[in-house]
Amino acid sequence: MASNPFDISGRLALVTGSSRGLGNALARGLAEQGAKVIIHGRSRDTVDAAARDIANATGAEVSGVTFDVTDAEEVRSQLTALIEQHGVPDILVNNAGLQRRAPFTEFDPEDWDAVLATNLSSAFYVSRAITPAMAERGSGKVVNIGSVQSKLARQTIAPYGASKGGVVMLTQGMAADLARYNIQVNCISPGYFRTDMNTALWQDDDFNAWIEKRTPAARWGEVEELVGTLLYLCSNASSFVSGQNILVDGGMTSVV
Ligand code: NDP
Repeated sequence: MASNPFDISGRLALVTGSSRGLGNALARGLAEQGAKVIIHGRSRDTVDAAARDIANATGAEVSGVTFDVTDAEEVRSQLTALIEQHGVPDILVNNAGLQRRAPFTEFDPEDWDAVLATNLSSAFYVSRAITPAMAERGSGKVVNIGSVQSKLARQTIAPYGASKGGVVMLTQGMAADLARYNIQVNCISPGYFRTDMNTALWQDDDFNAWIEKRTPAARWGEVEELVGTLLYLCSNASSFVSGQNILVDGGMTSVV
């Protein structure tokens, strides 16, 4: 029988921002398929609790690492130590992110810096720390988490949209450099999913009505609905897929 091209069992996966939210669901999805998963966030307590939950629920090998993704030096030193301890990850998911909202005329430059650092520079810092070792080994999968907001603007989040547009082009640029080392770099751009990041939106009746009207699927996404696309991009099934951006948005960006 042919081997299963989607099999990721035994592969080592680091998911940034997996202490909660989408990253947590993505890490759990990888663990459910037998990957060894490294949970990440800023707080040791939160990361350890999330790692325990996923290990208990899936039986997978799960560990944790903490660093601030906006601190290039901390990222470098923590990931050097991680590689020494666990080996070179087979799978890297750059998911940690932040949203700040304000009308453009009032947007604080410090918030601009925080959004760009957390959503875009972070993916560079983390990938820069891991991909040389992936290249030396001759294999790797990098999945960057973008957003529908790289395609569709919304009022009050221009910096967020700009950062996610940057993630799409970072994906293509990294893919261009890394494909020759058998490292596939791709992007998943989610639509709207209920997490801490957008509590104010899913608690707002008018916004929920807008989601129903604006999304062909007429609903919010469920975080588990991102996992299938991630498994595809982390497995041999996507061995010749490079620099792509897959929208997982219930059809939102395919219609006006
Ligand atoms: P959450 O706010 O629920 O979770 C954010 C995660 O990122 C947490 O694990 C947090 O860790 C981590 N994080 C944030 N800042 C830093 C930092 N400076 N250093 C280290 N870790 C950090 O967000 P979501 O789960 O909603 O979002 C995850 C990703 O998905 C983001 O990139 C977001 O832009 C993207 N996305 C989300 C959508 C949605 O509808 N929710 C839609 C489209 C894209 P800690 O516990 O330390 O705070």
